[in-house]
This record gives sequence, structure tokens and C-alpha cells, in this order.
Amino acid sequence: MRVTRMAFTPLRSVKATGALRVRHIMQKMTHRLTTELRRLAFEHHDYCVSCNYRFKEADTSHLGYSEDDEPLYVCDDCSNQLRETAIRHYFMPRPYEVPDPSSKLWRYMDFTKYVALLSSGGLYFARADCFDDTSEGAKGLRRNKAHWNEHYLQFFRSAIENPPEGHECKLSKSEIDEQAQRLLLEMEAGGESHRKRTFVSCWHESEHESEAMWRLYSSFLANALAIRTSYQSLYTALGKNPSINIGRVKYIDLKRSYAGVNDAFWRKRKSFEHEREVRAILSDFKCPEAGKIIPCDLNVLIEEVFVSPLAPNWFVALVNDINDKYSIQVQVSPSELVEEPFF
Ligand SMILES: [Zn+2]
Repeated sequence: MRVTRMAFTPLRSVKATGALRVRHIMQKMTHRLTTELRRLAFEHHDYCVSCNYRFKEADTSHLGYSEDDEPLYVCDDCSNQLRETAIRHYFMPRPYEVPDPSSKLWRYMDFTKYVALLSSGGLYFARADCFDDTSEGAKGLRRNKAHWNEHYLQFFRSAIENPPEGHECKLSKSEIDEQAQRLLLEMEAGGESHRKRTFVSCWHESEHESEAMWRLYSSFLANALAIRTSYQSLYTALGKNPSINIGRVKYIDLKRSYAGVNDAFWRKRKSFEHEREVRAILSDFKCPEAGKIIPCDLNVLIEEVFVSPLAPNWFVALVNDINDKYSIQVQVSPSELVEEPFF
């Protein structure tokens, strides 16, 4: 049994060498986070934008502004370029892989869903606890939970016993156990509520149209269509919003492993591997609805529309007609699956 990734990293002291570095590392954080700064850190998540240093887990990353008030996202060594430090983070790798900008993403749907997309002018994000897959956001199988509990209790005990430099743990063993148990309970409660504040838009990543996806994601094939976009277009159409994470789902064998606390919505069971899912995820603590519509530039999002292999000829004309009504300029093509073969 293993946990795919640790959830938290105990605070580690920042090792500074020169006095100048110490001053910059210890510069007071202003918490002034402009969208540009958040976007810069989001897009360059793994690297220092100044020296290209690749962050390792638990390194410190510094977000702030240069002398010219330009946003900066830098490592310890480059932190002396910051006139203002907005915030410092203990670096954690993303719990998902980001596809190539040009990688093709598909969404198969019925005509009515397509009209809803056009008429709302936004992409529907469904709340995670409303999915057909009741294991959405699961960290593991209930029968393995005792092992999972033990792993995290151990982790919490170690974090309590080893506080950051300058602090001392004065708790007795039983007090440490008690606190670890409390943290475990809080984490469990968090797991349930997380499903209610996580909103997801699902896509299928593939270079090609998929026969299986037509059958899976449309209830009436004669009236189905697929829109094709790319990672870059999806990200851009959603306004390059640093609060929306877009990445690949990783398929794991829940019988042998778990999803970590921050991974759960980026992990699915191996039985779903055929979906090759890329998802966009956002959190909303206040929305009580089963889903929410996020405004989206549809002319950027929709690179091409394909109609189902079983659609009659007039269906292409109908889709073109509805596109005109909503000022969507996009090519509508018949399914590649109906191209005539020769023998
Ligand atoms: Zn650097």
C-alpha cells in the first residue's frame, strides 16, 4: 500500500547564506496578489521565472514585484530581485500533469447540451458530488481505510513533533496522539465537504475522434455532436483564470494505493482509463447548485464541431444555422468515421 503523494509538507526552515538574502527572504509579505501575479505563478508553477531553477518539493517560492512593479515568481537565490514580497509558498508539485498546449480535447454531447452551451455563453462545471461516478473525489477504498488512517496519523505525529525552527514541541506523547487524531478527523470531514465545493468540466484527450465516446456521452446518437478544442484554447477561453486548474486525470489502482489529500479529484480508478480525461477544476465555497456556468469565449473554445456518424445530412445544416444565430464562426464537419472506405 502506498499513498500516491504526501498531502502536506512539514514546515522546513529556509536556509539563507548572505545577509542580503536573509533580508529579502524575511521581507514582510504584503499579500497583494494581482491577477497578473497569480497567473504568472500559475503558468510557471514548476520554475523560477528568472533563473529557470526547477523547484523541488518544500522549496520556497516567492511571489512579488520587481523594482518596476512587474510581477515576479522566483526562487530563494533570485528573491533579492523583489522590491515587494506578496507571499512565499512552500513549493508543492501540481497534483496533475498539464497537457501540451496543442493537445486535442473533445467533448461529446447531445444537441440540446450544445444549444445550452451556446445560449449560456459559458461552460458548465458540475459539482463533484453530483457525478454518476459515486467514487468521484475518493481517496481510497473503505476496506483499506485503517491503513490510510495509520499513514496520516504517523504523518501528523511527525509534523507535531518536529515544528519549524525556532519552535519547540512541549507536548507529551499522549497529547501528540490526541492532536494527531483530531487532525485526522478534521481531514476526513474536509474530504466530504470538498466534494460539495469542487466543480469539474470533463474532456477527452485524443488526437482522433472516438467511436466509443460517441456511444458513451450521447443518449441519442442521431442528434449528437462533438466539439474539439485544445488545452491552450480551453485555458484561454476561460480567461486564463489562475483559479481554474486544467490537467490530466491519473488512473490508479485503488486496491493497492490511495489518492493523497490534494490529489483526490485528479485520480480515478483504472476502470476509467479509456476516458483519457483532462479536467478543469475550480472551487466554490458558496455555490449551493449542482453545477455552475463559467463564462467562456466560445469562438476561442470551439475549434471544430463534428456531427455524429449517425446524424442525417440535414443535421450539419441545423448546427450551422444555430452557430450563426449565436455568432459562432466554426467549421462543422461530418464524423470522420463515415468517410467512405475502399476495399
Ligand atoms: Zn531563480
